[in-house]
Amino acid sequence: MTEKLFERALGRLDEAAQHMEVGAETLERLRHPTAVLAVSIPLRMDDGRLEIFDGYRVQHSDLLGPCKGGLRYHPDVCLEELKALALWMSCKCALMDLPYGGAKGGVAVDPKSLSKMELERLSRGFIRRIADFIGPAADIPAPDVYTNARIMGWMMDEYSQVVRQRTPAAFTGKPVALGGSLGRRGATGYGGYVCIRELAKRRDWVAEETTVAVQGFGNVGQEAARLLYENGYRVVAVSDSGGGVHDESGLDVPRLIRAKNEHGQVKSLYCEHSVGDEKNGEHISNAQLLELDVDVLVPAALEDVINADNAGQIKATTVIELANGPTTIEADRILDERGVTIIPDILANAGGVTVSYYEWVQNRSGEYWEERDVLARLDKRMCDQFNVVMDIAADKSLSPRMAAYGLVLKRIGAAVEAMGTAALFDGD
Ligand code: NAD
Repeated sequence: MTEKLFERALGRLDEAAQHMEVGAETLERLRHPTAVLAVSIPLRMDDGRLEIFDGYRVQHSDLLGPCKGGLRYHPDVCLEELKALALWMSCKCALMDLPYGGAKGGVAVDPKSLSKMELERLSRGFIRRIADFIGPAADIPAPDVYTNARIMGWMMDEYSQVVRQRTPAAFTGKPVALGGSLGRRGATGYGGYVCIRELAKRRDWVAEETTVAVQGFGNVGQEAARLLYENGYRVVAVSDSGGGVHDESGLDVPRLIRAKNEHGQVKSLYCEHSVGDEKNGEHISNAQLLELDVDVLVPAALEDVINADNAGQIKATTVIELANGPTTIEADRILDERGVTIIPDILANAGGVTVSYYEWVQNRSGEYWEERDVLARLDKRMCDQFNVVMDIAADKSLSPRMAAYGLVLKRIGAAVEAMGTAALFDGD
């Protein structure tokens, strides 16, 4: 699936460039990641054996500021995938008007096969290898797939030991006790909710009459579903890797969140663990959830779940991409022809990196904000950028995705032009 992922990611920028005035140098700069580092990490296992793991950091672009992006632990981590993910981070940061370029990195490892101590030694060993490459003014990592706040805490501590200065701003997504920001955990779901709320204003939706299905019930899916429920929307289906539940009259989302966090799977509340007067929804598969007759579909789990095979059967009129890359390019075309509105990932799930930026600002200034201040700033920035993208889409008759990529090219293009020397060589 990762074959030519970077080329495919660039394809969307090329397509957007056809609708915008973009200097050739901008696209050329984005075709070539700024720097790529590959390292080996020797790890002493608990039983005394030595194992060596491959680790990487890709800095895609530093045109708008220091590079920013997550570190993932996954057996499939490879440079091709990281280059594409780093490019998407460059786009996301530019779209949210953050003073950052994009990066991504990771270690090819199955973290579930390691003990906690092995995981900590691996994380610290990885940071010792890449310490010269990263830093608060160069490249700031954050959590990604199978890494979390605790791991960011270890990494920040190790980095601080290497540079002999306590440097919280070198990582974001840290535990609050180590300089993490209040509001970071739910930020991505919150940003997704703001997109739906703003779209509702444009479409005159009435919350109580608007039905929503959410695929993926982890950090992002739970928070988005919770906010939709609290604001009156009818969340009729949610799912996780074990399948989902569906109830046309609307699910009790807070109860589902409790069930998921107690029993591990959402179907548990409505099946094995249903008690007393609890209502029973029907159990559905993930494939069925995607094809439900709802107003809004929120993919919040994996990439490529909406593809050429099922795009013709999607009945939702709006898709809010909270996962990264949930819609393939082929599916995009099919849905576009059918008039389905897609709010693209680089906009819909940008709440997380936005609060990461606020965390970095707080770490660098030494002044810490209350959660309501963090969320108020996040709300305003999401709302502003959402409306800028939707206005461009309306003015130029573009999909929101093409409008978003067009804005990315415009903002990065302005930096390329400001920094470039092409004009000096014009004429003579
Ligand atoms: P998470 O690990 O907390 O949750 C993932 C959820 O997806 C879990 O409920 C899991 O059961 C479910 N899932 C796994 N396989 C599935 C399948 N085959 N079908 C349906 N559900 C399945 O992860 P998260 O942090 O909520 O991230 C979800 C998505 O959002 C990912 O694509 C991630 O890249 C993206 N994202 C997350 C953030 C963030 O701040 N956490 C920011 C931007 C984008």
